[in-house]
Amino acid sequence: VLRVSNLTKRFHGVTALDKVYLDVHAGQIVALIGPSGCGKSTLLRCLTWLEQPDDGFIEVAGKPLGRELMPGGVVRRQNRRQIDALRPQVGIVFQQFHLWPHMTALENVVRPQTVVLGRPRDEATRRGIELLTRLGLADRMDRHPHALSGGQKQRVAIARALAMDPALMLFDEPTSALDPELVGEVLAVLRALAGTGMTMLVVTHEIGFAASLADRIAFMDHGRILEEGPARDIMAAPKEPRLRNFLDLVR
Ligand code: ATP
Ligand code: MG
Repeated sequence: VLRVSNLTKRFHGVTALDKVYLDVHAGQIVALIGPSGCGKSTLLRCLTWLEQPDDGFIEVAGKPLGRELMPGGVVRRQNRRQIDALRPQVGIVFQQFHLWPHMTALENVVRPQTVVLGRPRDEATRRGIELLTRLGLADRMDRHPHALSGGQKQRVAIARALAMDPALMLFDEPTSALDPELVGEVLAVLRALAGTGMTMLVVTHEIGFAASLADRIAFMDHGRILEEGPARDIMAAPKEPRLRNFLDLVR
């Protein structure tokens, strides 16, 4: 579902991503871990083209995103229309929910469907109600974000991303802006989503959760994926000294 090769991103001299290679297969859950500033958010932002990588290739659901390799090794940049056509395939949920404050929970979920996908309003509304209900928000749909708890806001953000029927969901520390007592409800949603076979790439500091949820764990350091493998192996027998250090610090 996702194939990343040689992905490189620099911010005026700082190399945030340094030749990243990563594959996520259909139905897989990959946890992305690593120290602060190692490039996790930058990677997710590049995968949704919120940030344009300087080099490398991204393939989503079998299609190149942003840039494609033509016969003869020529790299062709896609135009805005091509990029926008593929972007809804990648759902993203941020640490800070990023809901529209002037819209109700339901409208937050309905609007992108009508605007981006051109879905008829009644169909988008039906889908929005279905998703919000599934995420335990049936009685909160008409509220504005300011009248919702952090955990509820994050669940609305997840519903909004799911409403686009993405091939892949990205989560960037979805629980780290939440009060401790609200973390559980969002992790439960992630777990339920994993149970539906959704393909997911999850950046998280909740190492125990990552280990129990993810099929694979990728450890990033200084813009590179240093080690990647089955969650059990990574937790039980990390090879890279830097990963061993990191795990000692966080668990
Ligand atoms: P954290 O765990 O703290 O969220 P991270 O792994 O998500 O960290 P990134 O936010 O991806 O790290 O940052 C990677 C590097 O790129 C850092 O050195 C950061 O300062 C730099 N960086 C990220 N975004 C920008 C930007 N817009 N302009 C300049 N530098 C940036
Ligand atoms: Mg980050």
